[in-house]
Amino acid sequence: MIGRVSRNPGEASDMALMIHQFICRSDNFGVLVHDEDSGVTAAIDAPEAEPIRRKLAEYHWKLDYILTTHHHEDHVAGNLALKEESGCRIIGPAGEIPGRDEAVREGDTFDLGTLEVRVIETPGHTLDHITYWVPAAGVAFVGDTLFALGCGRVIEGTMPMMWHSLEKLLRLPDDTDIYCGHEYTQANARFALTIEPDNADLIERARIVDERRAAGEVTLPTTILMEKQTNPFLRVDHADIRHRLGLDHASNAEVFGEIRRRKDGFRG
Ligand code: ZN
Ligand code: FE
Repeated sequence: MIGRVSRNPGEASDMALMIHQFICRSDNFGVLVHDEDSGVTAAIDAPEAEPIRRKLAEYHWKLDYILTTHHHEDHVAGNLALKEESGCRIIGPAGEIPGRDEAVREGDTFDLGTLEVRVIETPGHTLDHITYWVPAAGVAFVGDTLFALGCGRVIEGTMPMMWHSLEKLLRLPDDTDIYCGHEYTQANARFALTIEPDNADLIERARIVDERRAAGEVTLPTTILMEKQTNPFLRVDHADIRHRLGLDHASNAEVFGEIRRRKDGFRG
């Protein structure tokens, strides 16, 4: 079953939370969220200032917060300029986040207008990486931890650490909308098909992704359910995947590590 991959891209309205998603740099996503009841607006990461500034003006929203997922330049480059012109507060993980006002960690909660945001630590891509989950709106902002049909490179952490982070995301409700840091879905689909060439859901999804990209559209957000059905990095407990990799009796973390290493070397 293919769910909401074909949904109108970049536009979503859940509860009182409006979400606008747009491309920054070359393949980063800028995301603005706006709580209609309170008028509070936040940017999820700030890959660069100008497109975010433009979208804020377009929607007549004033920036109150930047929620940073991790320290990489392509997620924080707009922090200081946007803070200086808007006076917004920057919330992010402990570590080197430009302009950060408040550090948050596992289990912390804070209010975004009328909505509660929960912090989930998801280290692996970087050691400081966090995910922001808004349960009442059914959305999570996962940065570079999980991608549609893929996951982030394990740069600072270890394979078991990254797998543990993905397991946390697997425990979110199936219908959670997942907003990711990058539009990498088409390349991820090519790799996923090398791991699971016979997965009918994956074959169908890859076809839809190709169509959307050919039409110049984005393929995010995704959902936890769709990733459970088609993302090889989340399907490490499936017997057919394990068998194909010759890892029938390995741990989930070991199977994850093998798939991640293959992806690192994949030139598709
Ligand atoms: Zn990153
Ligand atoms: Fe990134």
